[in-house]
Amino acid sequence: MSRQLEQTHSHDPVEGPPKPLERLGDEIAELSAHINAATYRLLTLIREFDQRGGWGDGFSSCAHWLNWRTGLNKGAAREKVRVARALGELPVIGEAMRKGELSYSKVRALTRVATAENEQELLNFARAGTASHVETLVRAWRRVDRQEELEEADKRHQHRYVRAYTDEDGMLVLRARLEPEVGAVVMRALEAAADRLYRETEDGEKTEEKEISGEQKRADGLGLVAESALKGELDNGTRGDRFQVVVHVDAEALEDPDQPSQSVLEDGIRVSAETSRRLACDAAKVVMTHSPDGSVLDVGRKTRSVPPALRRALTHRDRSCRFPGCGLKFCDAHHIEHWAEGGRTKLDNLLLLCRFHHRLVHEGGIRVKMLPDGAPRFSRADGRPIPLAPRPPVLAQDPLVVFEQRHREEGLEIDAETGFPSWDGGSWDLNWGLYCLRSIGRPKERSRGNVRSNPQPLGSTQLQLTGSAGNDPQY
Ligand SMILES: [Zn+2]
Ligand SMILES: [Zn+2]
Repeated sequence: MSRQLEQTHSHDPVEGPPKPLERLGDEIAELSAHINAATYRLLTLIREFDQRGGWGDGFSSCAHWLNWRTGLNKGAAREKVRVARALGELPVIGEAMRKGELSYSKVRALTRVATAENEQELLNFARAGTASHVETLVRAWRRVDRQEELEEADKRHQHRYVRAYTDEDGMLVLRARLEPEVGAVVMRALEAAADRLYRETEDGEKTEEKEISGEQKRADGLGLVAESALKGELDNGTRGDRFQVVVHVDAEALEDPDQPSQSVLEDGIRVSAETSRRLACDAAKVVMTHSPDGSVLDVGRKTRSVPPALRRALTHRDRSCRFPGCGLKFCDAHHIEHWAEGGRTKLDNLLLLCRFHHRLVHEGGIRVKMLPDGAPRFSRADGRPIPLAPRPPVLAQDPLVVFEQRHREEGLEIDAETGFPSWDGGSWDLNWGLYCLRSIGRPKERSRGNVRSNPQPLGSTQLQLTGSAGNDPQY
């Protein structure tokens, strides 16, 4: 089968006449079922990798790691991780996918609403219907859930909330209801952050090709607000310290990270020497040097550790965080060889790193050096390199042969009929499906995290089976 399949796209006359279309269709269906089964295995591996934190040595999430290692785009990678996690609690749907009966498209849709209580019912529908049927059912089911939620909300007028769900294209959508004074603070923070992010471009640097709208700036600003909030907390440092770093150092500390003496931030919070080196990497800095007895030996003048012109050149060169697969735009300028150790503040000694990766490089044991060709080389604490793009695995043999062999060994019987819906082409009763699901109960809190906020009331006219499979960024 696999050998033949390989040849089907070849028009080489020596291969003989093209095979009948029906046979070609069967082969596509059979290979698709094998891919379903293999995708189940892939999701199982991703779940275990995610749970065991295999991505934690340099990546901010399992999805970032997948994006880097396997070339999936970030939206698709996030969705894979979400589905992998959800499948861990859905053994019935998982088993059907393992056997090759359910496509990833169907499983993606099902996992948005499935719970241990309703998964059997949902699976029955998914087996009977096409991928569009399943998408339509899931969308309608979410609307039912949303409507009930609204009815409850009506009873509690003073309800405030922030809701988040992941849209079909992987974007996080937030919906918030805030008291006016909280809202004012939030909006002010968003505007301030957006202003901070885009001030440099407005100074005349035109690195962005496209116009950036106010809405988009606020969206980026929200990211910065969150980053700053997390940074304040995780750093154990002062909020906003990036902009006003006054580091008190014992004379030896900046020159030698192994020195027991510590640096102290302005308001007396202790940070490690390595943290103070990170803060000093890219900041307005006033260095006060103290003698061992605490008296001030020297107060330097306020300077920027990376002058604005150089900073702009660096932003132009790097554009975003240089850590493999990251791409975050708001970055610190990292000195590869720290200025306190005599490292030069020159382009070839500087690198843009987002806050997350800047921290990893200083406090997290990730190392980076600049190769002679100007490309950064990252490595883990144990010296293993982190390539910019990992080499794709070398497939020893035809993947289909591997699938077939593995699936045979697992006792799976996969053929062209395996993933075929039992739908006979007649009218497909969505209302009956919803009725059955409602009788089981509403989706759990977990699945409601993804519920689309669609306040439209559920009317029977909306339940025509005309929906497509929806925007599907995965394929
Ligand atoms: Zn640094
Ligand atoms: Zn980064």
